Amino acid sequence: MHFYVHVPFCARRCSYCDFAIAVRRTIPTDEFIDGVASELKARFGGADVGELTTLYLGGGTPSKLGSDGVGRLLDRLRSVPGLTVAGDAEVTMEANPEDVTPEAAAAWRAAGINRLSMGVQSFNAVALAWMHRTHDADAASRAITAAREAGIDNVSIDLIFALPPDLGRSWETDLLKALALQPDHISLYGLTVEPHTPLGRWTARGEVTEAPEEQYAVEYLLAHKTLVAAGFDHYEVSNFAKASKSSRHNSSYWQRSPYIGAGPSAHSFDGSVRRWNEREYEPWRQKVAAAADPLGGSETLTESNAIAEDVYLGLRTMNGLAVTEVDAGMMVEWEKSAWAGLRKDRGRLTAEGWLRLDSLAAALTALRSH
Ligand code: SF4
Repeated sequence: MHFYVHVPFCARRCSYCDFAIAVRRTIPTDEFIDGVASELKARFGGADVGELTTLYLGGGTPSKLGSDGVGRLLDRLRSVPGLTVAGDAEVTMEANPEDVTPEAAAAWRAAGINRLSMGVQSFNAVALAWMHRTHDADAASRAITAAREAGIDNVSIDLIFALPPDLGRSWETDLLKALALQPDHISLYGLTVEPHTPLGRWTARGEVTEAPEEQYAVEYLLAHKTLVAAGFDHYEVSNFAKASKSSRHNSSYWQRSPYIGAGPSAHSFDGSVRRWNEREYEPWRQKVAAAADPLGGSETLTESNAIAEDVYLGLRTMNGLAVTEVDAGMMVEWEKSAWAGLRKDRGRLTAEGWLRLDSLAAALTALRSH
């Protein structure tokens, strides 16, 4: 079983962010931990939910729970009846670099965190300020040193690409600076403009020019070339890992394994039904405080949903998809266009193919659905 906890708190909203977050100057750590415990009681009532092989604290900014808060949350989860954490579980926490002090990293390691995923995004001071990030250009290096010295030897960093060209950010320089830190894993995010964000408003007013599609493709392919040459596996459309350091938790989503999510906006999946919690913190808090299930909605996967998901999830990873008689012709065409490679009756997209993931997945789904 895989378990995700959404910790929604952030110090401020980044200019491009439309995630479910709660901006707080003071983090209501104990209220939140009580809320997660109440949610699990309301939903499972002590029934056996299985042994967790991965546990992921995402957000938001889980590192805002502080050095002690993370330990208290993990202790509380371990004490939930019916829930156990495997001894060799991958326990990941997302962190902002400025929160990763030597003291905090040591406390998190002692609490059981063995993988840290850091929102670095860029090493360019102008770009960081424009994104409303709260860390400076050197913070990532200090944070990785603190994490490693504390014994957290599996460190992932997030980088954002396709920033507006007017910022003058060099993607190549940022990739090289990232490699100099020797992370175990790198996740890429292509900037998208969401309407209800500061960036959405700046763009609507004509104050910001989005990166053209060509820049998106050039930067994505440069990342692929640079990181693969540095010894990373490009194992999923947006993720790169050194040997044996791919994210076990995220890989479970791509394999359509069942998972439980707790906290505002968190999704859960039991193999056929996907459900999600109240998106915003306050409605979620009120429901769990009243000992109610904080359900926001659910859907049962139909057969056609399942076909579409199998295709999309298969194509997004380097494992690819087993080629069927129906789609062999299409795969051969993709191979001729250098969008896919065929090996031992499996079709895997190339980096060029991943640039077209949505349209290729839609075409293959349409073929398999008839
Ligand atoms: S730190 Fe992450 S979740 Fe928080 S506002 Fe920034 S992008 Fe959004």
